[in-house]
Amino acid sequence: MSKKYVYLFREGNASMRNLLGGKGANLAEMTNLGLPVPQGFTITTEACTQYYEDGRQINDEIMAEIMEYIGKMEEITGKKFGDLENPLLVSVRSGARASMPGMMDTILNLGLNEEVVNVIAKKSGNERWAWDCYRRFIQMYSDVVMEVGKKYFEQLIDKMKEEKGVTQDIELTAADLRELASQFKAEYKAKIGVDFPTDPKEQLMGAIKAVFRSWDNPRANVYRRDNDIPYSWGTAVNVQMMAFGNMGETSGTGVAFTRDPATGEKKLMGEFLMNAQGEDVVAGVRTPMPISKMAEIMPEVYEQFVGICHTLENHYHDMQDMEFTIEDRKLYMLQTRNGKRTAKAALKIACDLVDEGMITKEQAVSMIDPRNLDTLLHPQFDPKALKAAKPVAKALAASPGAACGQIVFSAEDAKAWKAAGKKVVLVRLETSPEDIEGMKAAQGILTVRGGMTSHAAVVARGMGTCCVSGCSAIAMDEENKKFVLAGKTYHEGDYLSIDGSTGNVYDGKIDTVDAAIVGEFGRIMAWADEFRKLQVRTCRQI
Ligand code: ADP
Ligand code: MG
Repeated sequence: MSKKYVYLFREGNASMRNLLGGKGANLAEMTNLGLPVPQGFTITTEACTQYYEDGRQINDEIMAEIMEYIGKMEEITGKKFGDLENPLLVSVRSGARASMPGMMDTILNLGLNEEVVNVIAKKSGNERWAWDCYRRFIQMYSDVVMEVGKKYFEQLIDKMKEEKGVTQDIELTAADLRELASQFKAEYKAKIGVDFPTDPKEQLMGAIKAVFRSWDNPRANVYRRDNDIPYSWGTAVNVQMMAFGNMGETSGTGVAFTRDPATGEKKLMGEFLMNAQGEDVVAGVRTPMPISKMAEIMPEVYEQFVGICHTLENHYHDMQDMEFTIEDRKLYMLQTRNGKRTAKAALKIACDLVDEGMITKEQAVSMIDPRNLDTLLHPQFDPKALKAAKPVAKALAASPGAACGQIVFSAEDAKAWKAAGKKVVLVRLETSPEDIEGMKAAQGILTVRGGMTSHAAVVARGMGTCCVSGCSAIAMDEENKKFVLAGKTYHEGDYLSIDGSTGNVYDGKIDTVDAAIVGEFGRIMAWADEFRKLQVRTCRQI
């Protein structure tokens, strides 16, 4: 029998992570748990490996299987690609065995063309939403599939906002977005030389190939190298029915953690934006609201979400990091995974889960990534020096630890200055996946925009690098390498100190001190002593 390369979400489960990728396996698991997951299918990591073996081609056998599953998906959802009654719109999402946030590509709202946009606009009576979907799709498809840079489209959006005298994307009207969609298509044609594809199946195959291809992009390769993820694993591709968070003020999208990923405190943490889609929350386009606000805005949805958080924690026995979307007051779960956390949070969560009877001490010890503990041994500001220091700003405590260094404004400069033996603090409006090497070179990262789940915050926590995000008090002038904060102009090379545990930003240099093994750290180390089989002897030359 030939190999199976495609699985419906309802055919998979969490143990199939190697084959379906983490995202696909967990979408399947959530489906089996009866949670509200937009349905779809997963193309396996083996199909990706095969794509590379076949010289970056999807072979006929796999192609036929994908087509068969499109048919099954149409049956399950009751919608059809390109249909003028009930069109199917999907996302095409990457998903490797190990989570690689933001490293590979996702395309949303696929299946749209001029005719379909008009259908959904008319059926929903929500023209703004329809055109917002379409312009986003053209943008993402052009960027991810055809590699026309994002910036060309962002420039067009900025120009449109300027012309209309508005500052936020959500202030653009249906007519503005319709005009943008047509400008985007013209831009596409100018860059690529042919018209933007209108056939949904052609769009889909283009997107699937692009996700396979994105496994080999430079930023994914750097991330893999740093996180010991083998190239041979490949990524799965998830094709999932869209849930729309951009339908107006009764819709929204967000991300949440069942416990605080910075401190480990048992408290639902997260951020969301109303009338928004996908990356809007993490990209720092607008500053999101804390999840607790949802209890006020949509109490029923909030209650349902809290219930789902309990279900997921009880099921996975670990803190979960989730993505959700609310489409006109209906909640959809789009992702869950064991959440990345700081070393401090990892210790607290492991101890709490033992105390709550959810895991054993042995499991608690094996939950801790020893590489992470290193961050606890990082310097903190000397309390005495700190007493005398007065913060010039307070922003989000995105990734703990203290950092002091000279200001640089770009990832390239961070790398170059580090190579020259200097300690730097990277200050950016917001970071993007291209900045990853510069972020590694910095002592700390300070961003003007973005929340606790912004790219900078997530990546810094993963690296154990101190990060303060969303420091909107900074008036940034990246081009001229300077910014104004609390009435002072800071230039490249000036000293700045930031505390990722409190979110404080200080002028000048502050001395740092080392940390000690106490509290939960001590508890876990004592349990580790109970179970360990090896002893390590070290000696230090004096
Ligand atoms: P990443 O791995 O970078 O997080 P994702 O595949 O999770 O990428 O998708 C990027 C964004 O798009 C996320 O915010 C996700 O929630 C959103 N998204 C993906 N698929 C859908 C869908 N079917 N409906 C609505 N939003 C989606
Ligand atoms: Mg995601």
